[in-house]
Order: sequence, then C-alpha cells, then structure tokens
Amino acid sequence: MLIGVTKETLPGETRVAATPATVKQLIKLGYDVVVESGAGQLSTFADEAYAAAGAQIGTADDTWGADVVFRVNGPTVPEVQKVRDGSTLVGLLAPARNGELVEALAARPITALAMDAVPRISRAQSLDVLSSMANIAGYRAVIEAAHHFGRFFTGQVTAAGKVPPARILVAGAGVAGLAAIGCAASMGAVVVATDPRPEVADQVKSLGGEYLPVVVPEEEQEVSSDGYAKATSEAYDAAAARLYSDQAREVDIIITTALVPGRAAPVLVTAADVALMNPGSVIVDMAAAQGGNVEGSVSGEVVTTKNGVTIIGYTDLAGRLPAQASQLYSTNLVNLMKLLTPSQNGQVDLDLDDVVQRGITVVKNGEKMWPPPPVQVS
Ligand code: NAD
Repeated sequence: MLIGVTKETLPGETRVAATPATVKQLIKLGYDVVVESGAGQLSTFADEAYAAAGAQIGTADDTWGADVVFRVNGPTVPEVQKVRDGSTLVGLLAPARNGELVEALAARPITALAMDAVPRISRAQSLDVLSSMANIAGYRAVIEAAHHFGRFFTGQVTAAGKVPPARILVAGAGVAGLAAIGCAASMGAVVVATDPRPEVADQVKSLGGEYLPVVVPEEEQEVSSDGYAKATSEAYDAAAARLYSDQAREVDIIITTALVPGRAAPVLVTAADVALMNPGSVIVDMAAAQGGNVEGSVSGEVVTTKNGVTIIGYTDLAGRLPAQASQLYSTNLVNLMKLLTPSQNGQVDLDLDDVVQRGITVVKNGEKMWPPPPVQVS
C-alpha cells in the first residue's frame, strides 16, 4: 500500500506528518511512501532528505490519492473529496468538535482515523499525539515566557549586584504543566505548581518544583482513576481563588494549563489577580483556545495589560518547535501503523475489537462510527 504525506494547508501550520526517519520505518513495515514536494519545508525536512530515505516526491494529487493519507490537521470539507474511494485518512480530526467534517467523511466510502481520539490508557501511550504535543507546548510556553520576561530566570550574584531567581507558578500539572515545570526549573527559576489531583505532588517535586495544595476538606479531594481531573467543587474553587491571589503578588510568571475533558477551560486567574502582578510579569494561558484559564487572555494573541503584564494566548505552541513536533507526531503515526500492520506486510488491518483502534475510528468504509463506546479503565 502507498502512504501519502500531504503538505499541510491550514494557515500557519509548520508541522508535517512524516520525517525522513519515519519514512524509513514505514518502508520497513512494508509500505511505499509518497511525500508532497515541500511538505517538510517549514520543519526543516527537505525533499532530498525524504528521497534519500526511500520516499517518492510527488504532487498534492499523488499524496491525496494514496491508499493511506497522512495529515497533521484534519482536511477541510472540500479536501475530503480528494481522498480516493477505499482509502484511509489519518490526522487530528477533532471529531467531537467537528460534526460537519464527520458527516463529510461518512458520506465517502473511506476510513477516517482521529489521532486526537487515542484513549489515554498506558497501552496507547506510544500513539498519544495529544500528550506528545502538550509536552512540547509546555516546554515552549516557558520559552515564550522567557522571551517576554525582561530578566534572568536563574538567580545570580554579579559584580553589579545580586539578582533573585524568577518565581513561576504553573497551574495544572498534567502533561503540559509537568513539561513547563521541568523546563522552568532547569533554567534556574523557582517553580511552584498546583493541581486538584494531589497525586501529582511527587511528579512536581521530581521535576524540581514545589507542589502547592489547595486546602479543602478531605472528602472534597479526589484521586483521579484515569489521569483526568473532574470538575472542581465550589469549596475547592474558593480556596484556589485565594491561592491565585496570594501567588499573583509573589510570582513573576504564571503558566496555566488547566483542563477538564469535555468542559470549557476553568477560569483560574481573574483580572483582579492580574492587576496584583508586578509590571513586567508574564502569563502564558495555554488553554486560550478553549476559552482561557486567565481573564483577559486572547486566543492566538499577545496582549499587555494597563499594569504592564504580558498575557500570551498562543494556540500553536507545539508548532513553534516544528522539527520537534513533526518528529514526535510522525513517530506516533509510525506506532499507529505498527498496530494496524501486525503482519508487517504493508496492508492496513483495522481491528475494531481493540479499544485503541475502535477509539480512533470515526468512519469505517463510509459507516459513521463516532462516537466510540466509552473506554473502561481497569
Ligand atoms: P492534561 O489533562 O494532561 O492536564 C490538565 C491538568 O489540569 C490536569 O492535571 C488537571 O488535574 C488540571 N486541572 C483541572 N482542573 C484544574 C483546576 N481547576 N485548577 C488547576 N488545575 C486543574 O492536559 P494537557 O495535555 O497537559 O493539556 C493542558 C492544556 O494545554 C489543554 O487545555 C490543552 O488544550 C492545552 N494545550 C495548548 C497548546 C497550545 O498551543 N496553547 C498545545 C497543547 C495543549
């Protein structure tokens, strides 16, 4: 079978769904690969490097017409018409938010697999693109904050005086938050972090941060069974609001990553908290695309408040490290193809009895399969 790697068409997208290294791995699984000319340009992978790895270099039509089409972003509805009958489309399809696309895919005799629907279970970790991208995005959030912060992160004693280390609060210690904690601590900042799941305390510590619990009665605290937070209680939110106001006075930088699946992002940092921060402070609101954890953040923009606080609402943080993001995304795709090609014979063999494969199947040969049944976590 032929895998086609298209050039991304979403404006501003820098990533590509295969690298020269993953082309070699796909060929080992028995596939042929065609890469659209220029597909890897923005992530530093030249046509020549793909060709040296064994890929053909082709046109957009060659790649859209392949047996398996690799994308980063889902196609537009008109692009769905370019997919050949009987073929399989793989990408970030966001089926839960994109009913129109799901209907357009189901109207075609094709199979569509959503990489952003991989269930968060240990066995599926090697295909979990959301975690791969959140890890990169958390790291990049710190780099963006450092870029806008007019001071060192690390403390120094110099001939010209003593410089204190930057103080950073990370709100939400999931994948992105932990990456941010590790990056900021390695740059010498003093990092504190909070999260409603108390079980993250050890992870925060191991990355060089200090866990700040939101103190609520014992019965309100809930250890997560599946690695995802549940909505927080009123008592929690009230205590957390005090913590954020206290921290706003203390810290130079806040990075927010709070997410509860299926809900709008919780607002953690209010405009009043932002007003308490010192001029020159920086906030990165990683949830800006989901409504924001910070009052006053603007999705995709950098804004500066009247009191001189910069609020970064970038929604493409992973794509701001394009080569890294392409490398991890395309490795997740190779791991998917290993699962779909148990005989290593270059033939896709989709097994809907497997919860991982069922979880990502949006359309199977023109039959709508979305939403999948809920995954039981043992
Ligand atoms: P995750 O599920 O691993 O982590 C989210 C964390 O938020 C969890 O630890 C959860 O317990 C915590 N949380 C939930 N409610 C909270 C609350 N009220 N207060 C504090 N913490 C709370 O998710 P993730 O993969 O780390 O992604 C985090 C966010 O980053 C998501 O909103 C995601 O969409 C976003 N993201 C943004 C970019 C970007 O470019 N801006 C890129 C990737 C991910």
